[in-house]
Parts: sequence; C-alpha cells; structure tokens
Amino acid sequence: MERVLIVGAGIFGTMHAYFAHAAGHDVTLIERDPRPMSASVRNFGMVAVGGRAAGEELQVALRARELWGEISRHNRALTFRPTGSIVVATAENHLEVMHQVASYPDAADRGWQVLDRQEVREMNPGLQGHKVAGGLYCSQDAVVEPDRVLSELRATMEHSERFSYFPLTAIDDVTQKGSEVVATSHDGRKFLADWAIVVPGADHATLFPGLLSSAPLRRVFLQMARLEHPGVTLTTSIASADSLRFYPGYQGEALAGLEPIRPLVRDMVMQLLLQQRVDGSLTMGDTHIYEEPFPHEMREDCYELLLDDVESIIGVRPSVQTRWNGIYSQNTTGAVCVREKADERIVVVTGPGGRGNTLSPAIAETTIKELIHA
Ligand SMILES: Cc1cc2nc3c(=O)[nH]c(=O)nc-3n(C[C@H](O)[C@H](O)[C@H](O)COP(=O)(O)OP(=O)(O)OC[C@H]3O[C@@H](n4cnc5c(N)ncnc54)[C@H](O)[C@@H]3O)c2cc1C
Repeated sequence: MERVLIVGAGIFGTMHAYFAHAAGHDVTLIERDPRPMSASVRNFGMVAVGGRAAGEELQVALRARELWGEISRHNRALTFRPTGSIVVATAENHLEVMHQVASYPDAADRGWQVLDRQEVREMNPGLQGHKVAGGLYCSQDAVVEPDRVLSELRATMEHSERFSYFPLTAIDDVTQKGSEVVATSHDGRKFLADWAIVVPGADHATLFPGLLSSAPLRRVFLQMARLEHPGVTLTTSIASADSLRFYPGYQGEALAGLEPIRPLVRDMVMQLLLQQRVDGSLTMGDTHIYEEPFPHEMREDCYELLLDDVESIIGVRPSVQTRWNGIYSQNTTGAVCVREKADERIVVVTGPGGRGNTLSPAIAETTIKELIHA
C-alpha cells in the first residue's frame, strides 16, 4: 500500500482519489475551497462521447464511458443517467448533414443514429418546438449531476480508513525529499506521502508555474445559466445543430451542407447545450472566449440567442434563474490532457478542455497505472 496525496478535489482530483483508493492505496485528497467551486461544479455534467475526435480521444472517451458505468453499478447512490443525447436538426439541411456524418466509419462506436421528426419526439417527447426536423441520437452519451457527483464519489471512500479529505487547505508547495513527497499548506501544515498527484484545474500559476507555463495549455471562459423547470421532461441531453460545427467528431466534407454561421455564434464560438437536472431545471450554455484577460460581465445577447434556440427546440422559453461563468484548462495539441512529471514522484495532470468530466475516469485510471504501478 502506497500513500497517495492528491491536490485539487475537482472531478480530476476526485477520480484520481477513487482509482488510487480502488487500487488499495492510502489516499489524502486536499482542496483549497470550502467545497470545490471551479469547472467541475459549473459544467453540464455531460459524459459526452458522441462528438469526440476519431482516434485516441474517442478510444479514451469510450473507456471513460465504460468506467462511469462500472462506477455507478458498484455505487448505486451515484446519480449517473445513461440517457443518450440528441443533436437536434432544426432545418432539412441539418438532417442531410447528419445522414452523412452517421456514415463515418466509427459511427457505430459512438452509437449514432439519425432520427426523423416523429422518431425524435418518440424518443424525447419534450422536443415540441416548431423547428424540430429530426436529430442525431448518440446512445453512448450520459450525464451526472455536477453539484453532487464529487460528494457522491467521495462518499464511496469515506467509510474507509484509507481515505482522508481536507477542504479549506490551499497547498503552496509540493516537493520531493528523498523517496517522500511533502506538501505544505498555506497555514504551514505538512502532508507526507509516497506519491503526489497535482490536479489544479485552470490554476496554472500556484503550483509548478514554470512547468505549466511552458506546457501547451490555455484557459477558456464560458457563459452558463440555469433555467426554471420548463414544464416538460427532456429524456436526453440536447445540443443544437451548431454543435456540429465545433465538435471534432463531426468534422468532414459533410459540414459544407450547413447554412452560413450566425455572426454571434461565430464570434462567441457558441452552441446550445441543454441538460435537464434531476430537479427538472435546465443547465443552458455555452460560449467560448480564448483570449485573456477574461471579461467580468456576462453578455446578454448570448443568453438571448441561446434562449431563442431553446424555444425553437422545446417550444417554451423558460426564465433564467441564475447565471455563472466557468473556466477550464485546455491543452492545445489535441491530446486528452497534459500529464507531466514535476519530479520522479510528483505528477501534474490538467488540460482536458471541455471534455474533463467525460474523460476523468479513464485519465485517472491511466495516471495511477503509469505513476504507481509502472
Ligand atoms: C461551463 C463549463 C461546462 C463544461 N461542461 C462539460 C461537460 O458537460 N462535460 C465534460 O466532460 N466537461 C465539461 N467541462 C469541462 C470540465 O468541467 C473540466 O474539464 C473539468 O471539470 C476539469 O476538472 P479538474 O478537476 O481538472 O478542474 P477543477 O474543477 O477546476 O478543479 C480543480 C480543483 O483544484 C483546486 N486547487 C487548485 N489549486 C489548488 C491548491 N494549490 N491547493 C488546493 N487545491 C487547489 C481548486 O480549488 C479546484 O477545486 C465544462 C467546463 C466548463 C467550465
């Protein structure tokens, strides 16, 4: 049994804790905030396989999807819903594009199937918008609840003497001394272990800034909102046809059949993603800004455009209850993450981009194997 210290308790830190603990190790999970408040709780909770790039990214996503399923089978309290997703066609040309996309060689791995208007409504009766023309269903997609998945996963370990959790503990330094690692907190506490996994999300500045500033990483800013219960049940995750433009899994000549992109959609790199939560409310997003410094204000024109798209797809325009932003760390090479050794016994893992919730179990599984069981 090895002592494994994990700095950062977002979905990456929590999944690394889960797989280290499952492998029989003694795990200490440390979080700066009173509860994790960053990307992992600000997202849609989507386990999104459908749009992943062909090749390694899709393979890792499929492994991750399998692991999400296994984790939920072993832990019935996990709010994991394998509901699939639909990219909704709101024009005939979208459907033509979807038919071509669904003929790509790996379409079956993704569980893609093109649906006409009636089939879409049979599968997801909440899609009563006047523009719905059909859709691209992805059977592999699933969802977890971002405001509870971290505590649900921690609860699977909390009964164990081999798991400790320290919120409100900002780590200022992680150093290897001989065959041990030492993490020092802001208030001078020392945490000793055999291995350290630093999973700081989009904080590229506090720990190992030299390593992270030279890594191929950028930060990305998104606008999000919660909408009131629309009065209908959405049985799948929803994306608008604009998502075909942005997700690598759909890229190809087929996209030439899309209409010209709306200027705001182009400038803000937007698409509608819509996820009904277990309480019936909706998580709506998103936009993308890649240039720092990021704004401190949310753009209302983006929310209005997304609400127009919601109305055209579900037939009602729910009111906005809350708005927030989120920042994630994205590697710019297309790799599934940046995983860099800071020392022989210290590894830093971040940069999964907008796929971190999806990929987290597969990335954590690999880190534990490569770092400790190599
Ligand atoms: C708006 C939005 C929507 C998204 N939607 C999806 C989605 O639907 N599906 C999907 O797959 N992905 C999605 N993503 C991406 C996904 O949320 C992220 O890739 C993922 O949450 C990253 O997890 P993380 O644990 O690395 O980072 P974080 O969630 O940022 O967690 C890092 C944690 O480390 C802590 N920390 C940092 N430094 C220290 C320190 N020195 N000491 C102690 N603690 C420290 C922080 O406080 C934080 O809690 C979305 C992201 C955003 C922003």
